Amino acid sequence: MTALIKQYAASVAHLFFPHLCSCCGTDVLHKDTLLCAPCLHQLPTTGFLQLPNNVMEVLFWGRTPIVGAGAAFYYTKQSAMQHLIKEVKYRNNPQMGKFLGRLLGYELQKTHRFDGVDALVPLPLNDKKEAQRGYNQAMMICEGLSEVWQKPIIGNAVAREQFTESQTTYNRVERWQNMEGVFNITQPEALVGKHIALIDDIVTTGATLEACGREITKVSGTKLSIISVAYTTH
Ligand SMILES: [Zn+2]
Repeated sequence: MTALIKQYAASVAHLFFPHLCSCCGTDVLHKDTLLCAPCLHQLPTTGFLQLPNNVMEVLFWGRTPIVGAGAAFYYTKQSAMQHLIKEVKYRNNPQMGKFLGRLLGYELQKTHRFDGVDALVPLPLNDKKEAQRGYNQAMMICEGLSEVWQKPIIGNAVAREQFTESQTTYNRVERWQNMEGVFNITQPEALVGKHIALIDDIVTTGATLEACGREITKVSGTKLSIISVAYTTH
């Protein structure tokens, strides 16, 4: 009887608070996921997380010493991945960040390349931006990722100090210069001797991660990997 009532209550709840796929809107999906199975399977995995010298890793060559880098998915305009990242960054949907983090975790489970990582560090936002958004999307991604990939999160060892002007008009060199002094290590003792995976939602030029990663590698004995949910060339 109780089971029947629960089932009935769930049906009524579903009627008034439908649980819909974030991409296509179907209500045929498991309660613990945000995407239906067909949408999930259509997300474009990069397949290069497990490959050394991959296209994202090459971005950091000669700039920041890294153990490895990689992204789980390609990001293109008008794609499902663009929609999901927008949900996290602009539509106050932290749960989507955690969901994307779990997806990243499942992709990382397919490779041993990053097994040596000791802890996750989310790329920080500055305080004002984080207050505006209500959360740091990279932290949400870390939380989901660590559920699947079982690595601890170090969330308060790196600070982002200032606004940078809109970077859209800068070329690569100017972007790099514009990033000087933006990131500060506030708790080096939390990072000493550790292999850190710096985590972000999307990598384009890598300039921001490069700047943050460079500060991390100045801490004694650290190693750095850079991992993101998505990668795009534009
Ligand atoms: Zn769907």
